[in-house]
Amino acid sequence: MNRLSKTLIGTVVLASSTTYALAQSTGNLPQRSIVEIADNIYRLQNNRHYSLLVITDEGAVVTDPINSGMATYILDQVHNLTDQPVTHLIYSHSHGDHASGGALLASDSEVIAHANAPERIDGIAPTLRFDDTLEFSLGNKSFELTYLGPGHGEDLIAVVVRPDNVAFITDAAAPKRLPFRNFGGANIDDWISQVKKINELDFEIFAPAHGDVGTKEDAKDVLSYMETLRAEVLNGLQTGMSMEEIQQNVVMEDYSDWNQYESWLPMNIQGMANFLISSGQVSK
Ligand SMILES: [Zn+2]
Repeated sequence: MNRLSKTLIGTVVLASSTTYALAQSTGNLPQRSIVEIADNIYRLQNNRHYSLLVITDEGAVVTDPINSGMATYILDQVHNLTDQPVTHLIYSHSHGDHASGGALLASDSEVIAHANAPERIDGIAPTLRFDDTLEFSLGNKSFELTYLGPGHGEDLIAVVVRPDNVAFITDAAAPKRLPFRNFGGANIDDWISQVKKINELDFEIFAPAHGDVGTKEDAKDVLSYMETLRAEVLNGLQTGMSMEEIQQNVVMEDYSDWNQYESWLPMNIQGMANFLISSGQVSK
């Protein structure tokens, strides 16, 4: 981290605590922050959503805009950090809570999304689509984009930035955090395949779109969580337990210190049971 970045983070921390105080008093201002997590790689926060900004001497690369207010904030950060324009906007997937408000960042950029993404993402037409993998270099960084297959959505990709080996991973997995509520009706076996694919990627720093930054080891733990949850819920269903009994019996104790453990575990169990039953995997 260079001297300028340190000064910048100091300023930003001060600014975000001011914002937080205001947010508490008005109740509706989003909490935003920027933190440098590796050399010229910044993690951007909008409340519970995070994105990534990479500054190079040939341009700035931004992942999900999140929303239009956040896009303005991101562009302000780019202007604070560099004279270079935003040259690439990368959509991790097309879900509206991550992919809205891209217009400001897309105007002069290559806009990259998976081939399955809709024709327009909140009004923005991607200019570059790919099927399995896409790599490009900019300045002293390179970017490896990998399709994670269906599961959480149909167009979810991971972005690994080198040489720092930082992975930006959205929604399919997050360090020490339960999957979102009831899995949203997804095919959870496909979702597990996405987590396996994440584990096959070569990276060190796990920068998720929700929750705290972690390491590659956290991706392994998410896979263990998913596979254990699947096995235990399936066992409960096959031994004739009611949903209430399964929710009492499946405690996933190894994960009790994870974020959202208490609030989302019952929903994780319900979602897993719904999937196993509806996909015909419970023999009666
Ligand atoms: Zn999503």
